[in-house]
Amino acid sequence: MKIPMSSPELNDADRQAVLDVLNTPQLSMGPKIEAFERAFCDLTGAQHAIGVSSGTTGLHLCVRAAGIGTGDLVLTTPFSFVASANVILFEKAVPIFVDVDPLTGNIDTHQLAQAAEELSLGGDRARKWLPRRLPSEVEGRLGPVKALLPVDVFGQPADYDRINAIAREHRLTVIEDSCEALGAAYQGRPAGTLGDYGVFAFYPNKQITTGEGGMIVTDDSAAAEYMRALRNQGRAPGDTWLQHTYLGYNYRLDEMSAALGLTQIKRLEALLERRAQVAAWYEKHLAQIDRVSPPGLEDYTSRVSWFVYVIRVEPSINRDRLAKNLEERGIPVRPYFSPIHLQPYMVKAFGFRPGDYPVTEDLGNRSLALPFSGAMTEDMVVDVCQALAEALNAPGSSSSGR
Ligand SMILES: *Cc1c(COP(=O)(O)O)cnc(C)c1O
Repeated sequence: MKIPMSSPELNDADRQAVLDVLNTPQLSMGPKIEAFERAFCDLTGAQHAIGVSSGTTGLHLCVRAAGIGTGDLVLTTPFSFVASANVILFEKAVPIFVDVDPLTGNIDTHQLAQAAEELSLGGDRARKWLPRRLPSEVEGRLGPVKALLPVDVFGQPADYDRINAIAREHRLTVIEDSCEALGAAYQGRPAGTLGDYGVFAFYPNKQITTGEGGMIVTDDSAAAEYMRALRNQGRAPGDTWLQHTYLGYNYRLDEMSAALGLTQIKRLEALLERRAQVAAWYEKHLAQIDRVSPPGLEDYTSRVSWFVYVIRVEPSINRDRLAKNLEERGIPVRPYFSPIHLQPYMVKAFGFRPGDYPVTEDLGNRSLALPFSGAMTEDMVVDVCQALAEALNAPGSSSSGR
């Protein structure tokens, strides 16, 4: 029995929905995208939902809507998938990384408040938050802090009461990267609606999938209209097919993908419950195993939307050797995340070094995502845990055996 790292849960209704679209002439910008968007308004209570071609393109449109441009500063986290920082670079703005909370891996709001405050004061106190080096196109063109871009890591929302208080004080836009948190809730409020704009993603390893796809939700009507135009080659309402009010993109979501998303979102509750069940099995069986800990949850998280199941190994364990040992036993695992600031292109542009964001790096060094999907059975979970226990006891699994 081969256990995959993740797997989408597709059924006959999903397949039929895609086929049905193929029997119509409308393969893009038709009724399916509209219905898919409406389903997101219903689900989250947001006023507007804009379907896009991926989570990354959705985040990029939010950056444009927030008016973020060359040299502007955006406070964000280095413990994420690279897309949340890349969309800042797309506009030649500068990501200012703020380290994360060791329990959840979400942005540390004490440091976030300090960064926003000290950057607004300028001078020496501001300088310590800036990267060592700047790309030549922004050198001498640094602007103010424009926005906060927190990430709801592994399906658990960040601390938005504190984040929104910081945003209000400094008049900043909050872009919520909720690409891993569809269906999660913070203090009873749905993920995606916790900032000014929120973005979900539907790559095949996410809670629901459209193959590729994403969704922006917001209550800001002007921003929604602008993002809707930018998604569609910059065509504003009233523009004809060959009129383009803005510099836009083709970030549209096609009808086949939207139809798949629509059947999936209708089953969201069942999909999330199965994932929660698998997470509960992991928690139960991991409790028998020393030197690893389950994901950390905060009291303000009223619902986790399990995206991946990431354990943390004790510092005495050689994580990479453990991962290799598990792979050899046929159990796929993945270090999650690899810190963004240490990716080669980031080091080259900004001069980041190991040690710059110690909590992020520590989590990056000690985290291990186990195979996870709603399709897993308890037997599979037991197999993974058994392999983990054996691998931990194998000679050389502790770092002293390096
Ligand atoms: C998946 C993901 C995205 C967007 O991914 P796409 O592959 O572009 O849909 C963005 N941010 C985070 C944190 C993600 O996990």
